[in-house]
Amino acid sequence: MDNHLLERDKPLVLVVDDELVGRIYIEKALLNEGYNVITAENGQQAVTQAKRHSPNMIVLDVMMPVMDGYQACMAIREQEQLLQVPILMLTGLDDIESVEKSFDAGATDFIVKPVNLPIFKQRVRNGLKNCKTDIELYRHQLRLAHAHKVAQLGYWEWDVETDALFWSDEVYDLLSVMPCEFENNHQAFRNRTRADDYEKIKQAVSQTLKHNTPYSVEYQVSRPDQKFQIIREQADLIKNEKGKIIRFLGIIQDVTETHLAQDKIRHLAYYDSLTGLPNRTLFHERLEYVLRMARRRESSLAILVIDLDRFKNINDSLGHDIGDKFLQAVADKLKLVTREADTMARLGGDEFALILDGVSSNQDIAKVAEKILHILSKSQTIQGNELISTGSIGISISSAECLDKDDLIKQADLAMYKSKEGGGNQFCFYNTEMKSRAHHSMSLEKELRQALDNNELVVHYQPKICVKTGDIKGMEALIRWQHPEKGLIPPFDFIPVAEETGLIVPIGKWVLEEACRQTQQWHQQGFEMLVISINVSVRQFLHIGFIADVCSVLDASGINRQCVDLEITESSTMNSIETSIRILNELRALGVKISMDDFGTGFSSLSFLNQLPLDTLKVDRAFIKNINSQGENGELAKLIIAMAKSLDLSIVAEGVESQAQLNFLKLNECDEFQGYFVSPAIPADEFEVLLRSKGLMETEF
Ligand code: C2E
Ligand code: MG
Ligand code: MG
Repeated sequence: MDNHLLERDKPLVLVVDDELVGRIYIEKALLNEGYNVITAENGQQAVTQAKRHSPNMIVLDVMMPVMDGYQACMAIREQEQLLQVPILMLTGLDDIESVEKSFDAGATDFIVKPVNLPIFKQRVRNGLKNCKTDIELYRHQLRLAHAHKVAQLGYWEWDVETDALFWSDEVYDLLSVMPCEFENNHQAFRNRTRADDYEKIKQAVSQTLKHNTPYSVEYQVSRPDQKFQIIREQADLIKNEKGKIIRFLGIIQDVTETHLAQDKIRHLAYYDSLTGLPNRTLFHERLEYVLRMARRRESSLAILVIDLDRFKNINDSLGHDIGDKFLQAVADKLKLVTREADTMARLGGDEFALILDGVSSNQDIAKVAEKILHILSKSQTIQGNELISTGSIGISISSAECLDKDDLIKQADLAMYKSKEGGGNQFCFYNTEMKSRAHHSMSLEKELRQALDNNELVVHYQPKICVKTGDIKGMEALIRWQHPEKGLIPPFDFIPVAEETGLIVPIGKWVLEEACRQTQQWHQQGFEMLVISINVSVRQFLHIGFIADVCSVLDASGINRQCVDLEITESSTMNSIETSIRILNELRALGVKISMDDFGTGFSSLSFLNQLPLDTLKVDRAFIKNINSQGENGELAKLIIAMAKSLDLSIVAEGVESQAQLNFLKLNECDEFQGYFVSPAIPADEFEVLLRSKGLMETEF
């Protein structure tokens, strides 16, 4: 409907009459009334004029040449914008038939010719007034229909007595139902809802009937295309004057999209996007719930915190992409050991957690932990890399005394750290002792940071002696912490914490600087060929900036690179042989030597060792320790020495404490040794004294 119909200052009336006099007579009367007037002489002209000007009213003579009034009226009504225009028919025949014919053709009113002017004017006024109301109503309906469409709202009515159901066009659209396909009764519609939803609706309706309040329910309906759709329905009832319920009026809305979006949001909020496992938030919520149930049932539950061992190495050395894939593979394996009632979640990084509800004994929990350790210890091939990251598990169990979620998680965490300290690939139950230890390790970390800033760390040197000649060939740099109150702290008491927190990276770099600086000084004092051995921790070795650090330290000290020997451990090379080989080759390209420290304590096989670019093997003191004064119990040491020789590596024995042990090494042609038998690690100034003294020769070489 054209807006200008309502917006015109003066209504526009089209007067159609083939008789000139009659036309002018009416035209004048209308002009006097203050209307604008246009005219036409026959039906055809009338249709053209009406289409062009959209008048507010048409006064149409019935008897006309070319096209009579009835035909013109019908032609006008075919135009959508002219559907509501009042058409007043001028009929000379005041008989029922012509009046009916007029109305059938779409006229709104009629007046008999010759026209009685006062009556005519009144009819025109009425016609215009009705038309205005009609247009407003029509526009209102259009707007409403539009709003319904936008809001995906459909309107329905249900006649309680006859069970007839009326649907607005939008309902059909919304449910993708053709009007001809649908039986318009309430039951037919309800048949399309799910059984449990139907109960819900029935209840809502009965509540409304009982309390006379509107209802709002959501339910699923099946569409003709077999898809389910979620509908929100709001309805109220209508009563007649006697208070009898006659009808329900309601709207329905398609909320499928909203639900899907909500589901998605919920999924994002509660599930880990990488592994699809519940995330930390959901874990905490479930734990809270399970704890509440446990309290009520007076049962107990266990939490297992699972942290992957050395996962950081995978991430640091092979990149996050492979790291992510590995975590997904781990999650898939963990899902397999979880019963439906248990919650396995990823808390973040390489940390997972499991809630075991209703556990009966520690043995049962241990069985689950063992199962998890077992599946984790199996290797996983990711993009051609065969990777293993075993797990460390900490277990806490709820009890009447301990039902707090955060406490339980903390306890499981502490137990997990205990497993880590024990070398990983194991599980551990929480006990109260752990609490104080955790305290200790936290304050240690803080102090250690300060120690680095306050120069409390010192390097001691332990001589490395030639087995054949007794000459000092070099020394191993061994760190100590000169604590202002606690005195000298050995590395075993703080290196693990430094490893755990990553502090080992700056600490390791500092040792490298200090040891190179000191060695260069001794070189300049005339002890040119002294080789400095420096320990490199796993974390340091796999740190992205390690090679660059080594390079800049070597440059800054100006040391002869052939006199620098970096000691790595088997654990540094455990995760990925390819990465280890690459790093080791880069180091060797810098000109430094590489030793494998503590050899024999790890899992390395001969073939594994064969692939690594190494210069020296250090036999762990565990293999030297038991060699007695008769030179017995050295079988393993002998084997390792032979193995190293077959690989063309030089051999250093650690922890030599007696002449007999030294004799054994001489016999088996070990190259160098370290040990208390000659000297422990000592401060730099004492080491200098040792260098200058001939005292070493007192032992038998
Ligand atoms: P390691 O590299 O195997 O060092 C040898 C350890 O054996 C040293 O202990 C040394 O003092 C000790 N030792 C030497 N001779 C004997 C002996 O005859 N008998 C016995 N029982 N022990 C002997 P220390 O200095 O306590 O160092 C322990 C470990 O701490 C080192 O083992 C090394 O893994 C680590 N560490 C020491 N300094 C550093 C460092 O600067 N960086 C890193 N990453 N680790 C270090
Ligand atoms: Mg060492
Ligand atoms: Mg060692």
